[in-house]
Amino acid sequence: MKKLLIIALALLCITSAAMAAETTYTGVCDPITVNTAGEHTVILDGVFIDDLDTTAIGIKAPATKLTIILKNNTHSILYAAPESAAIENNGQTIVIRCESADNANHECDDNCGSLYAYGRSGGAGIGSGYCTDMTGSVIIEGGNLEIAASYNGAGIGSGELAHMVGSVTINGGNLTVNGGNSAAGIGGGARGDLNGSVTVNGGNLYIKSGWDGAGIGGGAGSDLTGRVVINGGNVRASAGHWEGEGGTYDNGSGIGGGASGDLTGHVVINGGKVTADSRADVSAGIGGYNMAGNILIAGGEVIALGFDNCAAIGGVNSTSGKITVSGGKVYAVVSEGNRIVGIGSAWEDMSGTITITGGELFACAPGFNALGVGDGSEITGKIIVDPAVGMIKSEIGDCDYVYADEVVHYQASNVAPLEGSPYAARKDITHLLKNKSFAHFWVVIPEVTPDLPVTGDPVNVALFALLAGISLMSAAVILLSKRRA
Ligand SMILES: [Zn+2]
Repeated sequence: MKKLLIIALALLCITSAAMAAETTYTGVCDPITVNTAGEHTVILDGVFIDDLDTTAIGIKAPATKLTIILKNNTHSILYAAPESAAIENNGQTIVIRCESADNANHECDDNCGSLYAYGRSGGAGIGSGYCTDMTGSVIIEGGNLEIAASYNGAGIGSGELAHMVGSVTINGGNLTVNGGNSAAGIGGGARGDLNGSVTVNGGNLYIKSGWDGAGIGGGAGSDLTGRVVINGGNVRASAGHWEGEGGTYDNGSGIGGGASGDLTGHVVINGGKVTADSRADVSAGIGGYNMAGNILIAGGEVIALGFDNCAAIGGVNSTSGKITVSGGKVYAVVSEGNRIVGIGSAWEDMSGTITITGGELFACAPGFNALGVGDGSEITGKIIVDPAVGMIKSEIGDCDYVYADEVVHYQASNVAPLEGSPYAARKDITHLLKNKSFAHFWVVIPEVTPDLPVTGDPVNVALFALLAGISLMSAAVILLSKRRA
């Protein structure tokens, strides 16, 4: 009886092949598998595929490319078999698009075709299945997509215990992507790294990991070793959260490592609107448990958020890599908590380099350091702020506005002297400028013998421990010169 019903439903699937390599599917269909060589096109005209033995749409060698077109005003639903992805690329290229994706300035709306793709039990929504690395390419050019995985598979990327080695490129469309438990939204499945690349050039993306995965990056316990490049679009990458009898699981980063995972690769933001948020402790908005890679923000509007024991941008435990802001509008905000930092290392070992050479930056970590290290331990790296930067808002205790043209440099005590400084030969100097009426302050770390030459009248001023650590709160301040005599 059940068999008869299945057969009856299967008959509802209507296929029509306009050309050998282009086939339209309508209704309840069997899985679509491409086995032959060359480029293929599949048009989904409202299909439903749910087969418990295999992936809903799969591409197998020697095919080189499969383009999936979502017909206007239709909705298609794809379920994967357990341990499979709903759409599997298996090392080849899969393109998903709406009918209008080629039109200049097209923005997807409700008329564009929609797709729901769901990976079951260790498989990704789109990408690879259980224990299989995701290789090849996934390119999304349009459509209204909702992509999800049940558990341990990434929304887009690899399945459980597997890495995302290939590439994901998003050029347009409206996407909601939800990773399965312990997996990234886009990136690695549970215990899977993002070794490949994720590039966003356009579209509206809401991406969320399962608990302990990164929004974009590694799954639980895994790293972002590859590359995330955002050139445009609206992107929200959020770390997921789960709370139950076994505890709370929510330590993934917005963009970067999953719980306990590091960022050793590259995050580059050139444009678009990007929000990367981790909403729990021991995580980063953009970064990871350790941040040994590169984070470069050269344009766009970037909001990086953290909560407790975290860096909005950087590493929780250490930052030995490079964080550079050369353009755009950047907000690096930790709303509350202990051992927190806006940009840098939340706990210790800030041996990396933070360079601010352009754009606008608001960095805030109430009670702790906006830039530097959260717990006040020694900074062995560098923080360099170009005076040309528009504005920096920094907070230690009370919120103070610091204008970048007032900030000459801040540099840790035990690194090479600042080039060009009249006191370049001196170590153990941190010099800051707070007030516009002064050229600069020299802040001397108390442990250091204060034998600075004084070129102007010493003036007692209230100490504004701006970008420096809390240890500097008690430092002596010597005003060396006024901006204009
Ligand atoms: Zn569209």
